[in-house]
Amino acid sequence: MNARNYQREMEEVLARVDAGDRVPTLLLHACCAPCSSFVLTVLAEHFRVTVLYYNPNITDAAEFDKRAKELQRLVDELPVRYPVSVIVPEYRPEEFYEIARGLEQEPERGRRCEQCFRLRLMYTAREAERVGAEYFATTLTISPQKDAALLNAIGAEAEALLFADTAAEDDKPGSGAESEEKPAGSLPKYLPSDFKKKGGYAESVRLSEVYGLYRQNYCGCAFSKRDAALRDRAKAAAGQSPAAVAKQEPEGDL
Ligand code: SF4
Repeated sequence: MNARNYQREMEEVLARVDAGDRVPTLLLHACCAPCSSFVLTVLAEHFRVTVLYYNPNITDAAEFDKRAKELQRLVDELPVRYPVSVIVPEYRPEEFYEIARGLEQEPERGRRCEQCFRLRLMYTAREAERVGAEYFATTLTISPQKDAALLNAIGAEAEALLFADTAAEDDKPGSGAESEEKPAGSLPKYLPSDFKKKGGYAESVRLSEVYGLYRQNYCGCAFSKRDAALRDRAKAAAGQSPAAVAKQEPEGDL
């Protein structure tokens, strides 16, 4: 069976959006400024984008704030067709540690990452419904380190959950015609993506250099920071200079 082409699926949605007579709204979950750079140049051509920086996985408040400020700076400086705004929810690391419990030793791309994706995408779906966005998406599919098929499956799961919640509300005794307040068609839809395709990842690296964006060398959580340090030490022990190790492609979100 052929693997799904999420890039093409996104292009089909964009073509339908462009054929419409209005510009829809989209809530974009963003992990950091470098991953958002190319993604915003694509999506803000077709949508009014609100960026949601929901990342309780990040190691500590200082790193969280640093990435958030860099993201806001990017949004302020990046020329785009339609206006982009940013929402930064409060930093609540306990939400990440709750889903990561027992998975601390998992490697990147393992079960901890799956739960981390689910936490962030479920929150994004609910927030998209709360703010009345018509679509939601994530920057995470730009990373060559991340499983786009898994991310897109979780995105579809998050969309389905919103429909299930609405149906359950409608089934409650006494809900009656209240379902008309929130018809299923008005719930946000997940926009599939694989932003790294068609040179997307390379373009995000180029834009990061153009805008001088802070690029972290680990994905985000304390466990990925620990693993990145171990990798660096192993490379140094194998004879690579610290400068050569630092130049290599980051192992994290970007
Ligand atoms: S490595 Fe990245 S995706 Fe995986 S749990 Fe840590 S922050 Fe989340």
